[in-house]
Amino acid sequence: MVTQNDFVKSRLSMKRRILIVDDEEINRLMLGNILEDDYEVLLAADGSEALNVAKNEKQRLSLILLDLHMPVMDGYEFFEKVREDEALKDVPVIVLTSEKEAEVRSLKMGAADFIPKPYDIPEVIHTRIDRIIQLYEGRNIITATQFDTLTGLFNREYFCEYSTIFDQYYPEGSKELIALNINRFHVINAVHGREFGDRVLAAIGKTVKEYAGETKGLACRYSADQFYLYLNGEGNGEELYAAINNALNELLGNSDTRVRMGIYKEAEKEADISKRMELALLACNSTKQDPGRHISCYDEKIREKEHYDELLIHDLDKAIAEKQFKVFYQPKYGVQGEKPVLSSAEALIRWVHPELGMISPGKFIPLFENNGLIGKVDRYVWKEAAAQIAQWEKKYGIKIPVSVNVSRVDIMSEDLADELETIVKEAGIETADYYLEVTESAYTDNQADMISLVKGMKDKGFTIEMDDFGTGYSSLNMLNELPFDVLKLDMVFVRNIHKDERALKLVEFIMGIAKYLKVKVVAEGVEYKEQYEILKEMGCDVIQGYYFSKPVCAEDFEAFIKERTESEVQG
Ligand code: C2E
Ligand code: CA
Ligand code: CA
Repeated sequence: MVTQNDFVKSRLSMKRRILIVDDEEINRLMLGNILEDDYEVLLAADGSEALNVAKNEKQRLSLILLDLHMPVMDGYEFFEKVREDEALKDVPVIVLTSEKEAEVRSLKMGAADFIPKPYDIPEVIHTRIDRIIQLYEGRNIITATQFDTLTGLFNREYFCEYSTIFDQYYPEGSKELIALNINRFHVINAVHGREFGDRVLAAIGKTVKEYAGETKGLACRYSADQFYLYLNGEGNGEELYAAINNALNELLGNSDTRVRMGIYKEAEKEADISKRMELALLACNSTKQDPGRHISCYDEKIREKEHYDELLIHDLDKAIAEKQFKVFYQPKYGVQGEKPVLSSAEALIRWVHPELGMISPGKFIPLFENNGLIGKVDRYVWKEAAAQIAQWEKKYGIKIPVSVNVSRVDIMSEDLADELETIVKEAGIETADYYLEVTESAYTDNQADMISLVKGMKDKGFTIEMDDFGTGYSSLNMLNELPFDVLKLDMVFVRNIHKDERALKLVEFIMGIAKYLKVKVVAEGVEYKEQYEILKEMGCDVIQGYYFSKPVCAEDFEAFIKERTESEVQG
C-alpha cells in the first residue's frame, strides 16, 4: 500500500531538472558530473541557447546555474529576460562567478545564491544546490502541519500549494478535480455521536488516501466532511465512489447514498486551483437536487445555474428596495371541531423578478442560505407579515396569527429574539399572534445553542413550530428538552398516508410522540380528502395544504377571513 507520506516523498524526490549555462565546456561537464546522479541536467553554452532550453522546459525547471560572462548573450541579459518571463520568473538562479563585485550585483538582481569559481569540493556545491531547491519549493508549502490529524490527508493549504507543483510535474494529460462530501454528516454526528462521526471520516480518509496513492494524485480534507482529490487521468469518480461505499459498509450497513461527488474534468485548463475546487464543489452540490444521483460533472447546465445564481445575488438588494418580493399566505385550518375553521396562515415568499418572472423560493432560499444573505429576505418577510396581521385585525376585527419561516442561518444571530420582538411591537401586534417556524434540522445541527435560543424566544411569548418534522432526526431526549409548541409534520410523511400501510403507521407513531410531548400537530402538504380524513381521525390539530388552498397573495387570502367571520356570525 502506498501511504500519502511515501507518496509525498516519491513525488518530491522525483528527479528535478537543472539547467547549467556556461560557455566553458569543462565547467559544464564538471558541474554536470557532480549533479547527474540526483538531477536531470540540461546544458547551454550561452544566454540565448539557455533561453530556448528554458522556455521549452519551463514547466519543469527547478534551478538554473548561470555563468555571467558568455558570448552572444551574457548572464546578466539572460537573467533579466528570465525575470520578465511569467513562467520562469520564480525559478531560482544560482550565479557562477569569480568576482566579488559580480556576486553583489547578481544577488541584487534576485539571484538565490552564488557559487564561487574555481569550484569548491563537490559535496559543498551539491548541498548548496539541494538547499536552494528545497527552500524555493518549500517556502510556501512546508507548514508545520501539512496533514490533517484525523485522516492523515493533506490539509487544505498544503493541498492548494502542492497542486501547482503537481501541475508542473504532470504538464501533459487530463486531470480531474473531485469534490467529495458526506450526505447529512451532521445527522450521523447527531444520531451516533461525534466519535462515530470521526470513525466515518477516518474510513473515508483512508480510502481516499489509498486511491490518491495508487493514481499518483493528491488529496486533502478541506473542512469537516469536505474532501478534495486532484488526480491524473479520467473516470476516477465511479471507482472511488465504489471503494468508499465498500469501506463504509462495515460502519453503516448497506446503503448507497452516503457520499456525493462533483468532478471538474480537464481541470488543468483553469488557472487557479481554488477556482477549480469551486467548480467541482458546484457540481457536487448539484447532486442534491436529484436524489438518485451521487456523482455529477461540471458542465454547461451547472455553468448556467451558476450564472443564474450570480444574477439573483446581484439583484437582491434592488429587489428588496423595489419590493419585488411578495409574501403569499397559505391558510391553516383547525380540524378538530365539527367543521374546519381557519386558524392561521404561513407566510411564504415569492420573487416577482422584472426579467425572470415569478421565482419560487426553492430557487433562491437555499442559495441565500448558503451565502448568508437569507437574513435580508427573512427580515423583509417578517416585517411584511407583522404588518399584515395588524392590517387584517383592523379591517376584519379578528386576529389571524401568521407563522414566518426562520432560517437556520438566522438562528446564529444572538439578538434574534429581541429583533423579532421589536418587529412585532412596531407593527402593533402581540408576540402570541406571531408564530415562528424553525426547521427541525437546525436543532440537530447545533443543539445546545438552539435550546437556549428557542427558550429565549418562548420567553418573549412567541409560538414555536418545529418545521419539517421527521427530516431532522431529533433524538427523543432532545425533543424533551426543547420548548416548542407545535410539531409540523413534514409532507413526505403525508404523501402516501392514504395508500401505504407503513406510511400510516409512521404518522401514527409521530402522533404518539406529539401526545407524549404535549404539543400540537400541524400536518402540511395535505392534498386529498382521504389524507385529510385520516389525519383528522388520528387527532391532528391543524391541516395545511392544497386540499384547502395553495399559498395566495394577501388580497386573495381575505376571502378565507371573510368566510370565517361570516360563519361566526351565522354560527
Ligand atoms: P416549507 O416551509 O416547508 O413550506 C411549505 C411548502 O410546501 C411551500 O412551498 C408550500 O407552497 C408547499 N405546499 C403547501 N401545501 C402543499 C401541498 O398540498 N402539496 C405540495 N406539493 N406542496 C405544498 P414554497 O412556498 O415553494 O416554499 C418552499 C420552501 O421555501 C419552504 O418550505 C421554506 O423552506 C422556504 N421558504 C418559503 N418562504 C420562506 C421565507 O420567507 N423564509 C425562509 N427562510 N424560507 C422560506
Ligand atoms: Ca415552513
Ligand atoms: Ca415545512
